[in-house]
Amino acid sequence: MSDSSVDYDKLLDKINLWAQEIGFSQVGISDIDLSEAESHLQNWLAKGFHADMDFMHKHGSMRTHPAELHENTIRIISLRFDYSNKTIIPYEDVLTQPDKGAISRYAMGRDYHKLIRKKLKVLAEKIKLEVKGFNYRVFTDSAPVMEKAIAEKAGLGWIGKHSNLLNSKAGSYFFLGEIYTNIPLPISNKASFHCGSCTKCIDVCPTKAIVAPFQVDARKCISYLTIEHKGAIPQEFHQAMGNRIYGCDDCQMVCPWNKFTQDAKVSDFLPRNQFDEPDLEELMSWDKEKFLKNTEGSPIRRIGFESWQRNLQIAIKNKP
Ligand code: SF4
Ligand code: SF4
Repeated sequence: MSDSSVDYDKLLDKINLWAQEIGFSQVGISDIDLSEAESHLQNWLAKGFHADMDFMHKHGSMRTHPAELHENTIRIISLRFDYSNKTIIPYEDVLTQPDKGAISRYAMGRDYHKLIRKKLKVLAEKIKLEVKGFNYRVFTDSAPVMEKAIAEKAGLGWIGKHSNLLNSKAGSYFFLGEIYTNIPLPISNKASFHCGSCTKCIDVCPTKAIVAPFQVDARKCISYLTIEHKGAIPQEFHQAMGNRIYGCDDCQMVCPWNKFTQDAKVSDFLPRNQFDEPDLEELMSWDKEKFLKNTEGSPIRRIGFESWQRNLQIAIKNKP
């Protein structure tokens, strides 16, 4: 949909301004050609690196053909939302304390899905007031969307060798959100690649899950094993898990670009229940009722009490 009465360059300036006011840190625009990402995805799936995340297979070509997911999409507005905070006890310090549990930084506070979704809608509704015929759908880690590939095309960063998105001014501790739309906004320049010859993330990975640059084998990844995987975690990974009880930030922790991490503009992601340095025995003493109460509104609740206990048991077994 192109409306000749609309100056799309000026509209983009306004979108940038509104996005900042709402709490986003960066905006970029991509087209909908994801053919490069599609071949990477096919290759990754063919190798079985998705483990039992069967949802990666579902939805056919919708994941890499945005207009199939939301009709008439010609552009995607990609947005960055920082979640870290300098006041949080450093993850690397927690890794050296076997009595404590290490939780991925993004999961210590409020569940981001609803919050970011709401903010994306606020932004989209502002655009709708400006452009007649503006049609949209918002996403944040919620549907078959190639978030990182889209963000890379939209200039928000490059996909690092650990397969996370990296930004030269903000590191990698941020969420992404997308607005699929039918208006011809000016397309941003793709970000350039700045990993160079560095291999720190590959070298540090406790389970050697980064089997080659940009190739994470989920079957070995602690993030996958502690969050997505149901049932027992294979014995071969127990020792390497150490005290990591929900996710794993090691490959991000060592990345030199994370010295540029930006603080969140909101307090929602600050640790709850001392989740930046929780005592393992205390967590283990929670019954199901207490687990549900203490993880209300937290992403941790999504894995359920059984997986939570499974992870804790391994961390406690790893105590010297
Ligand atoms: S999240 Fe942890 S286990 Fe997974 S690739 Fe990164 S360092 Fe390895
Ligand atoms: S640790 Fe090095 S190789 Fe890995 S993502 Fe960061 S810059 Fe790239």
